[in-house]
Amino acid sequence: VIIEMVRFKEIHEVDIINRTITVGPGVINLRITEHVNADGYHYAPDPSSQKACTIGGNVAENAGGPHTLKYGVTVNHVLGLEMVLADGELVTLGANHFGQPGPDLLGLVTGSEGTFGIITKITCRLMPNPEKAVTMLGIYKSVREACESVSNIIGQGIIPAAVEMLDKIIIYAVEKALKPGFPLDAEAVLIVELDGLSDGLDAEANVVEKLLKDSGAITVKRALDEAERAKIWRARKEAFGAIGQISPSYYVQDGVIPRSKLPEVLDEIAEIAKKSGLTVANVFHAGDGNLHPLILYDYGNQQEVEKAHAIGEEILSSCIRYGGSLSGEHGIGIEKAEWMSELYSGNSLDNMQNVRAFFNPENLLNP
Ligand SMILES: Cc1cc2nc3c(=O)[nH]c(=O)nc-3n(C[C@H](O)[C@H](O)[C@H](O)COP(=O)(O)OP(=O)(O)OC[C@H]3O[C@@H](n4cnc5c(N)ncnc54)[C@H](O)[C@@H]3O)c2cc1C
Repeated sequence: VIIEMVRFKEIHEVDIINRTITVGPGVINLRITEHVNADGYHYAPDPSSQKACTIGGNVAENAGGPHTLKYGVTVNHVLGLEMVLADGELVTLGANHFGQPGPDLLGLVTGSEGTFGIITKITCRLMPNPEKAVTMLGIYKSVREACESVSNIIGQGIIPAAVEMLDKIIIYAVEKALKPGFPLDAEAVLIVELDGLSDGLDAEANVVEKLLKDSGAITVKRALDEAERAKIWRARKEAFGAIGQISPSYYVQDGVIPRSKLPEVLDEIAEIAKKSGLTVANVFHAGDGNLHPLILYDYGNQQEVEKAHAIGEEILSSCIRYGGSLSGEHGIGIEKAEWMSELYSGNSLDNMQNVRAFFNPENLLNP
């Protein structure tokens, strides 16, 4: 049985005074921000898929996005939800504010991938739009230096709104598709965005610019106006789609590692790719250490399909070895279920199964 939630796309209530919005799970992520933008607010978690993904899917996956480095992921922005349990009972979790007494069932359900119930209504926090944003593009001759820059910025106590990395292959693909003006001779670019109150933001941007240069950036450009900023973000958010310019298919892996390990793991991914003979491109949430290696292959070529899977597994194993985890934001699903025992003890997995069995005793919900 497939349950399609796309028609649950009603915006039930906007409460600007209390900064909340209550929507159906079929509402597209970006629609929330579009709905409240004129009032000076936005919904902070901004997956790169935000033009297409739904808020219900976001809650089920505990989605993140470029700006979650500073603002947090979905679980930090969902205040309450209504859910149908496996036996048909309609329950409400949370409320229209944080800090409900008792166990955090809302937190438990967020990220449960549809295995605990069907979400039918969601109340989210609205965030005031920042007074100002400064978007910078650090241009690098090596991926390693770009990776090192990330820890250098955060190690100085500065938390940018976003730090995203695109490697040479992605730069080529987005230039072909969207022409954002990224340099084709760079090995990597880092998009660093700072936001907040106008006062002091330029001074902070100067500090970040110096840190980027000290870590090896050959140039640091700043978006001069909103149009330039939008161009940079469009290139980042549509980078997966741009791969269509250079490969018939791609397989996106989603692993997460401590950000300080980015240089080593990116080196290892390059080695894995070289050994396999397939190309692996990288575009990812560098500030969070959330990798998205895109394995380029031809779906019509069985050998390449098998190789792509093998590369994905090697990358995951590398993430675990460096102290990371199986998924940053795309979830476990069926694909990674068998990998759970690589990361969790039998006891932990039994406990997870017990919680799941409580919500889903007859296995009626997502597998
Ligand atoms: C190009 C691209 C870029 C992406 N970038 C990001 C990113 O930056 N950050 C990120 O976190 N993810 C990203 N993703 C992954 C994906 O978009 C997210 O996981 C998103 O949250 C899924 O939403 P969806 O509406 O597509 O859900 P679906 O894929 O339709 O569903 C996801 C899961 O949620 C369950 N589900 C959906 N609705 C409900 C409901 N109402 N009740 C219970 N369970 C439900 C489904 O059964 C399924 O298991 C990206 C994907 C693509 C293709």
